[in-house]
Amino acid sequence: MRKISDLPIIERAGRNPDHPAIITPAGSFTYGRLLDASHKVASSLLAGADDLKEQRVAFLIPPGFQYVAVQWGIWRAGGIAVPLSVSHPLPELEYVIEDSDAAIVVIHPQFEDRLRPAAERNDRRFLPTADALDAKIASLPDVSVNRRAMILYTSGSTGKPKGVVTSHCNIEAQAMSLISAWEWTCEDRILNVLPLHHIHGIINVLTCALRSGAVCEIFPRFDAAEVWARIMQGGLTLFMAVPTVYVKLIACWEAASAGRQKAMSAACAKMRLLVSGSAAAPVSLIEKWKTISGHVLLERYGMTEIGMALSNPLHGERAPGYVGVPLPDMKVRLVDEDGNLVGPGIQGEIQVKGPAVFAQYWRKPEATRDSFCDGWFRTGDVSVIENGKFRILGRQSVDIIKTGGYKVSALEIEEVLRTHPQIKDCAVVGIEDTEWGERVSAVLMIEHGSALTLGLLRRWAKEKLAAYKVPTRICVLSELPRNNMGKVTKPEIVRLFKTGNGGENS
Ligand code: AMP
Repeated sequence: MRKISDLPIIERAGRNPDHPAIITPAGSFTYGRLLDASHKVASSLLAGADDLKEQRVAFLIPPGFQYVAVQWGIWRAGGIAVPLSVSHPLPELEYVIEDSDAAIVVIHPQFEDRLRPAAERNDRRFLPTADALDAKIASLPDVSVNRRAMILYTSGSTGKPKGVVTSHCNIEAQAMSLISAWEWTCEDRILNVLPLHHIHGIINVLTCALRSGAVCEIFPRFDAAEVWARIMQGGLTLFMAVPTVYVKLIACWEAASAGRQKAMSAACAKMRLLVSGSAAAPVSLIEKWKTISGHVLLERYGMTEIGMALSNPLHGERAPGYVGVPLPDMKVRLVDEDGNLVGPGIQGEIQVKGPAVFAQYWRKPEATRDSFCDGWFRTGDVSVIENGKFRILGRQSVDIIKTGGYKVSALEIEEVLRTHPQIKDCAVVGIEDTEWGERVSAVLMIEHGSALTLGLLRRWAKEKLAAYKVPTRICVLSELPRNNMGKVTKPEIVRLFKTGNGGENS
């Protein structure tokens, strides 16, 4: 049986201990330091025990060296890593800690006051990052690579987020498929501006970089001007982001002087690959980016549950509006509503099979069962094959909204909005938007005499929901449109917003 110390990412780090692994505004950290720090974290998590035996360890740490040291420390101690989002309000963090049944919560000092009470509830162990990184080295357990490694929370159509569980083998398959398709090497240097509680940043950027022995530079948050400044310093080879990030980079370029624009474009042209994903990249965006940088963004398609499934080619023509063909080791098929395979030119649900596909939804055996059909994962996304390439048509369910690269559940937002004292009922939909992909838009039934405005609602909702889930458009109605089964007819609400009757915008 293979040992955790044989975990490919750990083994790879040991081959080049003096090579820089992570560069942040706080400094440069080699692979050797990452191995030392994660060993200390693992020892601290174990606290004398032999093995965490798949205990969940939630951690709230801003993107940076300490984040990676803790993630690797959890793995090396035999635990399951549960990254928490630095942008989520307390109730959402508490939900993940409770649902994952975390035994330990590691918290960066920046969040200690806010999260410590929740972290210590129900006999959980609260561990400040400083203590985790300062432990005496202990021996580490033998852990099979088949063991579960990570839980990422993702919104589903049934309301509350579900925990997507991946094993070390799944993570290895997800990373290796991209490393081979996009020809990562230890000579690469990528800049991460993505949050590290979502697959895009964790796998496509961070894990691929470290598994290749490359350098991952990390900005704690995205700032368009800072990204351009870094690109202009030179040396970056790769960049990956959601379409919204590229929209902001374009706006920043457009605001620059002609001379600076020229320098920005020249620096960007020297990079070898820029990737877009997590939401559809509008063709106009890809074209604009090409005029600015000379690069055709490589668009790919994937999901928390499966890693990446489809990609445009690294070499050869990238067709805007298309997400290319299956990645190495990924089997992808399209199936109609009766479960029959469909041929080119016909729409069908994307179903996926392969070693990168997740193990299960955390403690949700029924949801796990329902999401597979004969061993194929049912993505809920609809696509069509044209000229041998997949084009994504959208989600089967209208209840999943993709905004700024995040996937949010309309049902979950509705649950929260309904707790507002002046809201009698509501329905939330996503309305297409060139900047955000979709905008969270809400139809509200409010109490008689209420003077609720979008501004007041947003201020209230920001205390309860992550900022990107807070509606940016509202419309007040006396009744919600419903079908004869009493179910709200969302396509009608979408039409309402699209025809310009959508009330107030932020
Ligand atoms: P997540 O699990 O948050 O990464 O969201 C996955 C979902 O994002 C998929 O099920 C798709 O609906 C959507 N998605 C990801 N990549 C693309 C893409 N290139 N084009 C359109 N939708 C995408």
